[in-house]
Amino acid sequence: MDLYEHQARQLFAEHGIAVPQAEVIDSAAEAKAAAGRLGGRVVVKAQVKTGGRGKAGGVKLAADPAAAELTTRQILGMDIKGHRVRTVMLAQPVDIEEEFYVSYVLDRTNGTFLAIASAEGGMEIEEVAATRPEAVARIPVDPVEGVTEKKAVEIAAAAALPPDAAPVLHRLWQVLTREDALLVEVNPLVRTTDGRILALDGKVTLDDNARFRQSRWGAKDDPHGNLLESAAAAKGLNYVKLDGEVGIIGNGAGLVMSTLDVVAGCGARPANFLDIGGGASAAVMADGLSVILSDPAVKSVFVNVFGGITSCDAVADGIVQALQSVRLTKPLVVRLDGNNAARGRAILDAHAHPLVEQSTTMDGAASRAAQLAAAA
Ligand code: GDP
Ligand code: MN
Repeated sequence: MDLYEHQARQLFAEHGIAVPQAEVIDSAAEAKAAAGRLGGRVVVKAQVKTGGRGKAGGVKLAADPAAAELTTRQILGMDIKGHRVRTVMLAQPVDIEEEFYVSYVLDRTNGTFLAIASAEGGMEIEEVAATRPEAVARIPVDPVEGVTEKKAVEIAAAAALPPDAAPVLHRLWQVLTREDALLVEVNPLVRTTDGRILALDGKVTLDDNARFRQSRWGAKDDPHGNLLESAAAAKGLNYVKLDGEVGIIGNGAGLVMSTLDVVAGCGARPANFLDIGGGASAAVMADGLSVILSDPAVKSVFVNVFGGITSCDAVADGIVQALQSVRLTKPLVVRLDGNNAARGRAILDAHAHPLVEQSTTMDGAASRAAQLAAAA
């Protein structure tokens, strides 16, 4: 489970990492008074479980309490990458001298943790990592030894961070281990013009397996606050929103995951993960299609079904029926293979729809869906 920024900063503060003073509110009416308590001038920050808020206009400086109210009104209700803003945090602004990046992530491949740190933090960190990887230090951390004070100094030095960032690295490790996190990230960690080191933004992902001893964050995750994911969860679908433009429906998690890979291999980006499971009934197909079609980022849809216990003619019937209740607005490429594939394909042919086409192979269907998305 991901935490909101304001929850992450609460953990940072509890472990001795300095953060700016802040208040969390959920209505513009509270903004004036809150800003007043914080000294008047504030940064208004959207609380959503996604990054890139700054670039999306979800982090704004307000010069006084009246401006804070106006800005809060603008940011509340905003949609940031499919996440509706329901709360904002008002924080005391700081004058930034330098921005750093620090994080610990679980490195599953190597069975260890990884410290990632850079003296060039801030909103362009992805760009820095992509174009000048040497500016980002990646240092393995033994899970048993952890980040001792000595190790923290080593990490800071490797990333060319100032020596006084080392205590933060040490404390951040304690956040990771004591709070059962799989990821902790501070971007930016800043040095202010008056020489203080402050965590200005935080991301923490908790290990769901430790949920039983982290009950303070609630028993259940709200599905990331993502509207499409909430709608899908309400319909009992296994749906995860992704950043691309090719909508994906498949039966079986393994097949759906390989479908994502094949679509990516065709140079397109999957818009979602959606596993409709074994049954693939008309109702489930209709629910799945309606969720995917309501994603404005989707340009084409790829339905990839391998009939095992489910036979393809049943799936084809499901698609035909679904198309009676869902208005198709984007091209649909269907690949049916396996149990009763020929019957299934014949059913779709018999109910020809101008936006539906078939392909007999997974690769062929993926490249056609990619092509249709690119042409849209
Ligand atoms: P993100 O875009 O979701 O990562 O949101 P951040 O909380 O990291 O804010 C984006 C950027 O806003 C940061 O990288 C800072 O450059 C800037 N920012 C945030 N808080 C302050 C502040 O108090 N003072 C100043 N000058 N800039 C800030
Ligand atoms: Mn940030």
